[in-house]
Amino acid sequence: STQVQLVSRPTGWPTDENFRTVQVDLPDLADGEVRVRNEFMSVDPYMRGRMNEGRSYTPPFPLGETMTGAAVGRVVESRSDTLAEGDLVLHQYGWRDIAQAEAAQFRPVQPLEGISPSAYLGTLGMTGLTAYAGLLKVAKMQPGETVFVSGAAGAVGTAVGQIAHLKGAGRVIGSAGTDEKVALLTERYGYDAAFNYKKGPVLEQLRAAAPDGIDVFFDNVGGDHLEAALDSFNDGGRAALCGAISQYNSTEATPGPRNMTNLVTRRLTLEGFIVGFHAQHMPEFISEMGPWLTSGDVVSDETVVDGLENSVEAFLGLMRGENTGKMVVRIGAA
Ligand code: NDP
Repeated sequence: STQVQLVSRPTGWPTDENFRTVQVDLPDLADGEVRVRNEFMSVDPYMRGRMNEGRSYTPPFPLGETMTGAAVGRVVESRSDTLAEGDLVLHQYGWRDIAQAEAAQFRPVQPLEGISPSAYLGTLGMTGLTAYAGLLKVAKMQPGETVFVSGAAGAVGTAVGQIAHLKGAGRVIGSAGTDEKVALLTERYGYDAAFNYKKGPVLEQLRAAAPDGIDVFFDNVGGDHLEAALDSFNDGGRAALCGAISQYNSTEATPGPRNMTNLVTRRLTLEGFIVGFHAQHMPEFISEMGPWLTSGDVVSDETVVDGLENSVEAFLGLMRGENTGKMVVRIGAA
């Protein structure tokens, strides 16, 4: 099995030197185990946190060991009663071409007509649930409200815009880092207005896009975006704080918003959340997202990088904004 390992902890932006690729001989299957050929693996911003030492909501990747993360693959050999050769499975043994473990570590998923299995890494999986739960359960968006989403052209952001639109938002505004992404936000991802945060101050651009203020903020970015949202909130506004990617590679403490007193004067609620604590919403989410996806009400775009050997580059590309929708790595394409 070819596997990618973390060998040193990055300071600031990770580089190739922080990783190595190794060949691992897999033992014969033990009773109850399966062997899976991975087809797609996920690269996600939270993995940057796992490359650091110290406390986060997921433990650090151990040095000198193969990294983990979501992947989908097919069972190629089975000594288990519960999984058979050919079954499509979702699991956490990414960063390798062949995964081998007890069958219980692999969750069978239904192949869907006309939809790539990689959707289970994005819109139909963790990122889709993040968008759904953050918008509807944490921020409790109501029909008619004005919603602002930062990082809007990414995996979570493209889902948030479309869900907001389908759930009757009054106006949905998104920000992204290229003009191409900004165009897609309004043409394809359910946004009514969008702007390029690299082209001018976020606050000015948000005011122009939301002259009557915002009611809900779904934050993937932090920093200037959070401060601008706090400035633009109407009374009783709610923010679902999902991520702060503008700060993940920072080596120094980043400044906080300077307008926190708006929380008092406008009766605002800011709530951070982690999707893992919203697993109870999975059935409801799937019952809505499944039909949205198959009917085409929701589009699920991906940026696909080919080859496990390019997986570190795919991760860095994600941090640099080279993806639209979900960034995935296709492994061992036929
Ligand atoms: P994305 O697909 O959104 O990819 C990351 C994007 O971030 C890039 O495409 C880039 O787009 C943008 N970006 C990078 N640097 C900056 C910057 N300095 N300022 C603004 N934007 C930047 O990733 P995901 O959809 O997987 O994740 C989005 C966010 O949600 C992340 O913050 C992630 O940590 C968080 N998350 C949180 C979860 C939770 O449970 N709380 C679960 C899943 C994700 P651009 O070109 O627009 O700059």
